[in-house]
Amino acid sequence: MPYGELAALKEECGVVAAYGVGDDLPGLLYMGLFALQHRGEESAGIAVSDGEQIELVKGLGLVSEVFTTSCLHDLNSIEPKLGIGHVRYGTTGGGGLDNAQPLIVRYLQGNMALAHNGNLANTDRLRREMEENGQIFQTTSDTEVILNLVARYRREGIVTAVRKALRHVQGAYSLVLQSNDTLVAVRDPYAFRPLALGRLGDGYVIASESCAFDAMGAELIRDVKPGEMIIIDEEGLRSERLCEQDVPRHACIFEYIYFARVDSVIDGLNVHAVRRSLGRILAQEQPADADIVIGVPDSGIPAAVGYALESGMPYEEGLVKNRYVGRTFISPGQLLRNLKVRLKLNPNRHVLEGKRVVVVEDSIVRGTTSRNLIRSLREAGATEVHMRISSPPYISPCYYGIDTPSTSELVAAQHSIESIRSMIGADSLAFLSMEGLLQAVPGGGNCLSCLTAKYPQQTCQERN
Ligand code: SF4
Repeated sequence: MPYGELAALKEECGVVAAYGVGDDLPGLLYMGLFALQHRGEESAGIAVSDGEQIELVKGLGLVSEVFTTSCLHDLNSIEPKLGIGHVRYGTTGGGGLDNAQPLIVRYLQGNMALAHNGNLANTDRLRREMEENGQIFQTTSDTEVILNLVARYRREGIVTAVRKALRHVQGAYSLVLQSNDTLVAVRDPYAFRPLALGRLGDGYVIASESCAFDAMGAELIRDVKPGEMIIIDEEGLRSERLCEQDVPRHACIFEYIYFARVDSVIDGLNVHAVRRSLGRILAQEQPADADIVIGVPDSGIPAAVGYALESGMPYEEGLVKNRYVGRTFISPGQLLRNLKVRLKLNPNRHVLEGKRVVVVEDSIVRGTTSRNLIRSLREAGATEVHMRISSPPYISPCYYGIDTPSTSELVAAQHSIESIRSMIGADSLAFLSMEGLLQAVPGGGNCLSCLTAKYPQQTCQERN
């Protein structure tokens, strides 16, 4: 569960898939989804196939709430050889069980199940056109739009159908799709959302993040390339390109700053190592005269450790989080609501009392969380609070799979740094520079749109 400012940003899903990994494929998908829980807490689902039929279990809630031992046993009873899984935090189409994924269609040419992570830009138009042609939708999710597009071309075989369907689609997507006997995984041509390929025994696994492979006992092979379609069937694994021409890669840089788990490796870079570098560079660029460095759990901690190492100040556990405050916590009154903040994240008075504190956070979104945090640090005895942010100011919404507040709610879009400092009550406030960010995430090809307010315009579909 996220605690800091970036809790205002919500990742919109995680996907996992497996083919030919031996016994207990549903159990392995379950382990993979468990490792991806941070990418979505609203619903979870697994679809599996034995080559002739697809079975599906999905529900609202955490992975541990949706899947019981008996339902995993039921999925296993068909002796599945391939399957896909999904955890969802969704805004497009809203919540509810209907929109939980995987989505499944059963029709004359066979069955299909689909799960995706991302945000499509032209779903409304596509849905309207399809409805005008008599298509009936059972959900409000854009995943069903993709599924129906694939079904439209299904007679041409699953691979051609996916390729043709995705030529209609604009936006960010990393998806896994299965027919009765074939697994397909696709990363959009810009590669906005992560997707990785791994090996397990004689089979293959796919997941949003490599931490899922660790949980499944699998080995990371590589990231799925921009615009790559991976097909796994009885003949093995093959790779095809979705587009004939390349478009500039735009992999989300906030996966490194905040969304991904620290033990994941994305496009060759370990997330923990990147966050620590962000902290080191931040300390070089924005030093502070203080006694200790603390981080906002969880994602701010590696950057705080990096800041401490570089500055020579000790890193201390100044904020203690309670891992057991769930989504279901009931807070009926203002008093309990205020106490709930403390229950989630409690300043450690023993560490903070009489100290000048550098607090490292990964971003400022609305500013309200930082204001409350700084007040609580002072109440716990901190004599000075110097806030250091391990990314440049977040000034513009994301349209590529992350649910963000509007520009009017983004404090860095509306106010100067000095004005934000005054609003949140810090003694000093400083952000990492864009140069510093790009130094910590070398190689280029990352999306920076929420930091620059510049968005890629051209689509693969327009180029083909
Ligand atoms: S706009 Fe920001 S959050 Fe969205 S994909 Fe780009 S870098 Fe990631």
